[in-house]
Amino acid sequence: MSRLQGGMSAEAACVRCRLSQTRTQVVVGRGDSSAAVFFLGEAPGRAEDKSGLGFQGAAGQRFNDILAFIGLSRERIWLANAVRCRPSIDGRKNRAPRPDEIEACRYWLVRDMERIRPRVVVTMGRVAFESVTRISWDAKHRATPIAIPEFETTAFALYHPAYLIYKRDLQSVYRQDLEKLRTILLTLDVRLDEPAGPWTRASKTT
Ligand code: SF4
Repeated sequence: MSRLQGGMSAEAACVRCRLSQTRTQVVVGRGDSSAAVFFLGEAPGRAEDKSGLGFQGAAGQRFNDILAFIGLSRERIWLANAVRCRPSIDGRKNRAPRPDEIEACRYWLVRDMERIRPRVVVTMGRVAFESVTRISWDAKHRATPIAIPEFETTAFALYHPAYLIYKRDLQSVYRQDLEKLRTILLTLDVRLDEPAGPWTRASKTT
């Protein structure tokens, strides 16, 4: 039976790295704790730090559109970031997470992976891919199933959804990657709805 939940209280109180001193709150992993598909992003930004929820704002809308195209929803996946507190410069600008922060926060990623045991972990961006696979990112890894022996599962790498905001020419490439992911998930007997959403309609014109 699936349960919709948002992480554990110890995760919400984590002080394993310096980001605990500047965050508003931990953006804990959230969703269906028996999900077949785990989506892993990089780190919270300002909107996520404020709301406590993953993928808000413009990137969040792209993420919702991506899920709709695959035939999933936030209620049927597990969603977390490789780094769960916002990395920022003086609380103003977002910055990239540092290697020691990624390593410290991997503790929570391992906890999630061992508890949820997803059939596929969809990584969004370099940091997410490298954190869960321990493999250095290379463009050849994109949209290619890669075994993760540590967790007895498979990684499938997507560009980060924010790329769709800044690089609109990626729309058709992204759509091809999602079609490939959809085929893989169907092969694994993951229940998917028909592709839907405004991103689908927009993609048909590219
Ligand atoms: S980023 Fe991760 S490891 Fe660091 S304080 Fe937040 S939850 Fe803990």
